[in-house]
Order: sequence, then structure tokens, then C-alpha cells
Amino acid sequence: MSLSNWKSNEKLVGRIMASLRGGNVSHAYIIEGDTCIDKEAFARDFMKAICCSEMPGDGCDSCVSCRKIDHDNCEDLYYVRAEGTGTKSVKDDAIFELQENLKKKPSGSRNMAIICNADTMTKRAQNRLLKTLEEPYPGTVILLLSENRENLLDTIKSRCIFYRLNGEDDTDKESLKDADKLLDALIEGEKFFTLKQILSKSVKNREDAFRILDGLQILYRNLLLEKDPRGRLLKREEIFRAVGLIEEARRDLLMNVNYNYALKNLVLKIGG
Ligand SMILES: [Zn+2]
Repeated sequence: MSLSNWKSNEKLVGRIMASLRGGNVSHAYIIEGDTCIDKEAFARDFMKAICCSEMPGDGCDSCVSCRKIDHDNCEDLYYVRAEGTGTKSVKDDAIFELQENLKKKPSGSRNMAIICNADTMTKRAQNRLLKTLEEPYPGTVILLLSENRENLLDTIKSRCIFYRLNGEDDTDKESLKDADKLLDALIEGEKFFTLKQILSKSVKNREDAFRILDGLQILYRNLLLEKDPRGRLLKREEIFRAVGLIEEARRDLLMNVNYNYALKNLVLKIGG
């Protein structure tokens, strides 16, 4: 399957594809989803999207690179899995072995790793992995598959881009909550300092930035449709203007403008 076929995660996948096509490949991602979601399949499709030259950012399923990844015979792709009797975990040894592998020169353009059940990594394993995340080998991409990222060290989380699969409702609710706080502050004419504080709490990376823009857009639409009583506090022109500015910020993000700058600029303009 190619990335664009993950229809149940259409919005998220759209963002990922745009980001990969823009050449933004990060060195580490946490991909989270419930047990029922085949995160390993998603991870393979993600790697295909990164490597495929026929359909970059998506994956064609038929070129040599896509087929190798699908058939588990890509020399540059390493898997790490939880082991042990009883409660399985990803052990320190396994991460050590991975690090040795990632030091090798890739036969293609980059080395890749998929750490399944990354949230079962022992503390030692996590601390070891941290070294790789802090000083990644050039080009390396590591995917950490997890069901609950809260089991991961903050230092690991802060070095990875986070995607949540299929629990899209959760993501939406979460981003709506942040966007809602921001909207309240905007309507109340709060100072830039307060707006900045809300942003820095809820937006830690580009993906968060896209999420909060999605959230703001939904909220402003509700204001227009008078689904939200706060709409009475604003003139319609003000709402239209804000919607236009949100679109502008989204375009900036797609053009790789720094996300902090794009969002601060947005709230300054809406507020001003
Ligand atoms: Zn391909």
C-alpha cells in the first residue's frame, strides 16, 4: 500500500506527504496508535514514501525500493522488536545492535530503523537511543512505534516528530482545545505576550502548528455559522479576515517558513 491509501488518516497523511515532498525528512518520529492499528505497515509505507523516486512522498509499490521494503529485504532498513518472556521489552542490547548497524554505510541513500513497541524500551535502552537521537548519523530515519508515548523519556519525545494514527478524534479534540484557548485570548484582545505563551505551550513543532491552524479554522467557521455564541462578539469582516490570515499562515508553513514565526505573525495580525 502507499501512504496516500491510509484513508482513515487522510488529513494526517496529507500533512506528512506535503512535508516529505518539501524535503523535510526528520531523523526521528514517534508514530502512535492503538493496538488495533497496524503501525508496522504504516511505518513501512512511511519509509517507502521517503525512498521512492517514482512517487516521492507517497510510494509507488512497484519500484525496486518499494518492493524491497514491502518484502523485508531492504538492506538499509533495520527492525528492532520487543523480546523476552512474560512482559516483552525492547532491551539495551537491541538498541546497541541497532546503533552498530546504523554506523554502516547504507547501500542506498540512507539507513532506516523501525523500533516496534518502542514504548516498552527499558530505561537503559532509552538512554542509549537518546545518544543516537542527539547526534544522528546523517540521513538516518528512525521510527518509534508506540501505543503510549508517556512511557518514553521526555528527552526522547522532544527529539521526535509526533504523529498519532487513526485516533484522529483525539488529535482533533486536543488541537481544538489549544485553538480554543487561543481564540478566547484573541477575542478578549489579550496582549501579544499572553498569546505567545499559549502558543509556546501548545505548539512544539511544525505538525503542532498545522494542527492548531486546523483547529482555528474549524472554530472560526463555527463563529461564522453562528454555531458558537462568541461569534456575536466579532464583526463578520473580522472573522473573514482571520480565516484569510490562517490560510496565509498555512501557506507560509508549507513554504517552510519557521513555524514559530508564522504563528506569531498570525496572532499579531489577527489581534491587530
Ligand atoms: Zn516506489
